[in-house]
Formats: sequence, structure tokens, C-alpha cells
Amino acid sequence: MNIIPQHSLLEFNTLAVPAVAEYFAQVSSDKDIFECLAFAKKNKLVVKVLGGGSNVVMSEFIPGLVVQFCAQDCKVIQETDQSVTVKVEAGFNWHDFVLYCLSQDWYGIENLAYIPGHVGAAPVQNIGAYGVEVKDCIKAVNGVYLDGGDAFTLLADECGFGYRESCFKQALNGQVLITSVEFLLSKVPDVQVSYAPLNKMSAEKGLPTPSELARWVIEVRQSKLPDPKTLPNAGSFFKNPVVSTPDFNRLIERYPSMPNYPQENGVKLPAGWLIDQLGYKGKSFGHVSVHKLQALVLINLGGTGKDVIAAANQVCEAVEECYGVVLEQEPRLFH
Ligand SMILES: Cc1cc2nc3c(=O)[nH]c(=O)nc-3n(C[C@H](O)[C@H](O)[C@H](O)COP(=O)(O)OP(=O)(O)OC[C@H]3O[C@@H](n4cnc5c(N)ncnc54)[C@H](O)[C@@H]3O)c2cc1C
Repeated sequence: MNIIPQHSLLEFNTLAVPAVAEYFAQVSSDKDIFECLAFAKKNKLVVKVLGGGSNVVMSEFIPGLVVQFCAQDCKVIQETDQSVTVKVEAGFNWHDFVLYCLSQDWYGIENLAYIPGHVGAAPVQNIGAYGVEVKDCIKAVNGVYLDGGDAFTLLADECGFGYRESCFKQALNGQVLITSVEFLLSKVPDVQVSYAPLNKMSAEKGLPTPSELARWVIEVRQSKLPDPKTLPNAGSFFKNPVVSTPDFNRLIERYPSMPNYPQENGVKLPAGWLIDQLGYKGKSFGHVSVHKLQALVLINLGGTGKDVIAAANQVCEAVEECYGVVLEQEPRLFH
């Protein structure tokens, strides 16, 4: 393992913003992690954990030691006729893991196919798509505390999972390196097609097998979301806001066609719809623009992290001014 000074992270973030880490290391064992923690302690550096860089906005200079955990082992730790528990190291590419599970006839995460990033980041924001959240298949999350290197295991109900939320973004933010995730997967197919486009396809073509469902998800995602390799982006840039029922009643009177999803704590509104109604699809803010087909996605063509944040702030301000709704940014600041 090498600890490299002044390392460019341009290739390590899907927004393709220019960024340099003061120090950078790719680690794949406990020994590497302890070496990094000792180096950071000796040199009084903050340790920052990076996965695949698909949900971060980087600043141009990132002080401290940026660590990327690369180990990719996957092993069965428990098995019955009905289910399997697999322990997957954090560096495994998420989409490859979904495909691997399907090849083994393990089910439950097929709706989450084609989400970029690494397995280790999946619990951080409780990745979700097409009616499924990863929390429903997570049994436990293992890792080490960056301060001291003690190991921890958190069971799923200790992870504070919510909509794009977990304790790893809250109380444990910046404090841990997740080294592996344990998933409880079913051996019995039970496809989830409640999400509108999948429901429509299912009505036309019949109920899919889990592998077919993953293919449908990939197809829909490819048709809707820009590929970061050609149009650098971080996926949905804003979380869908949840507003109180009185606020919702006020809004629906003004915007009767506004899509809405009642929740326990209010009503969820699609951030993309709010932005789209402002006529912002394709709107450019210098090097950064709102994608022309997908209002939730910001595209970066040559800008810096600062430019991306400035564009995001302008979108948020316009939404707040028009609807009185505050949007929350989904990607994490990496600075
Ligand atoms: C085109 C596109 C589509 C997307 N679609 C979706 C979607 O449908 N649903 C969805 O939920 N998300 C989506 N995303 C967002 C993103 O893919 C996920 O959030 C993904 O889980 C991020 O993984 P990553 O490895 O790239 O994490 P990174 O971006 O590297 O990191 C994200 C955060 O997690 C922390 N982190 C990463 N790895 C670890 C670790 N091992 N230990 C501790 N902390 C860690 C980082 O410090 C950072 O705060 C999309 C992104 C893109 C670019």
C-alpha cells in the first residue's frame, strides 16, 4: 500500500470536478487501514473515506488523508433453503454485486441494479430506487472507527435508516470506515413492480423474473439518466422534500396537478417536478447545467465543486421562492 501525496481525484468522482487530496491511499486489509490510521495520527491528518465517488461534490483541495477501501471479497456466512446471508467487502462494485446475486439466484436487490458506487457506501445513504431501499436487505454493517481503529458491527435496526438517511450521515458522519456489509437475501423470487414504469412493463409483458426485472430497471435507467462517463453528474442532486400537511394543502390548491406521496410525517413531493415547473430543464449556470431531460440531475461540463454548489444553490433558491419548499442536497460535500 502506498500513501501518495498530492493525488488528483479527478478520475475518482463522477461529477469530474478537479480535486487534489493532500494524501491518498487505496487500502484492502486491516493492516493497510491501521498503517493509514497511524500515518494520519503521526501527521495530524483527518482521514476521509471515499467509495466510488458517485455521491460527492469535491472541493479543489482536500486536506488530510483520503482512503479508498478496495477489498471485494463476498462470502456466504449463513444459508437455509429459503435465504442466504452474504458478507460483502466494501470495495465491491454495487452493480456487479447485484448481478452476482442474480447469478447465484439470490433475490431482493434487483430493483437497485445499475446504481453506481461501491457496496460500502450503500448503507451510508440507504440507496433506493424503483420502490426498494437497501435497508430492507441489510442485516449488519461492519467497520472500524477512524479514531483509534476499533472494530464495530451495527445491526440494521441500529443504523438509523430512513429515506436516503442513516447514522453514517448523522452521528457517525466522518467517524467510520465501513469494511463490509452483510445482506440477507431470499432464494425465493418476489419481484417488486409497484413503481409506475415497472408496473406498466409488467402489465404489458407479464410478471418478470428477478433477472428480467433487473434488465428492465437497467433499460429504464439508461433511457432516463445521463451516463456520468459522457455527462459528468452525481445522479439525483436533490432529495424529494417532505412537507407538512397544511403546507401541502396550500400548495395543492395552487398546483392541482402536483404529484404527491403521503407519508407518516407529511407529504413527499417530487423535487424534479418542482424544478421542472420552473422551466429549469436544460438551464445553464456557466459550466454547470440542469440536465435537459431530468430536472433532478446537474451536469458538470468543466466546472469546479464550487461551481456545482453555486448552481445547486440557485436551483434551491428558485424552488424556495416559488413554492416555499426547501430542497436538501443529496450528494455529500467532500472537502
Ligand atoms: C448516474 C447516477 C445515478 C444514481 N442513482 C441513484 C439511485 O437510484 N439511488 C440512490 O440511492 N443513489 C443513486 N446515486 C448516488 C450514488 O450512486 C449512491 O449514493 C452510491 O451509494 C454512492 O456510492 P459511492 O461508492 O460512489 O460513494 P461515494 O460517493 O464515494 O461516497 C458517498 C458518501 O459515503 C461515504 N462512504 C463511501 N464509502 C464509505 C465506506 N466504505 N465507509 C464509510 N463511508 C463511506 C463517503 O465518505 C461519502 O460521504 C446515483 C449516482 C449517479 C452518478
